[in-house]
Amino acid sequence: MPEMEPNSSSQTCPACGAVVDVTNEEPLARIDCPSCGEKFRVERAFDNFELLETLGVGGMGSVYKARDTRLDRFVALKICVRN
Ligand SMILES: [Zn+2]
Repeated sequence: MPEMEPNSSSQTCPACGAVVDVTNEEPLARIDCPSCGEKFRVERAFDNFELLETLGVGGMGSVYKARDTRLDRFVALKICVRN
């Protein structure tokens, strides 16, 4: 299972277009836009992996179902938590 370190990331609010820093947000978490209050889902991509859903959360990190866009196949991806 590949293990990835979260990298700095920002995302554009789909409602108002504000750029929101999602670096410290859990991938796939629902967060409130600080500008307009609209809820949207944090979408994080790690290299060629596109996160799709949470499979499990543990003390050492979270495991996600992801799609390997390079090989076009589904994988389980572990995101290590930095403390
Ligand atoms: Zn917004």
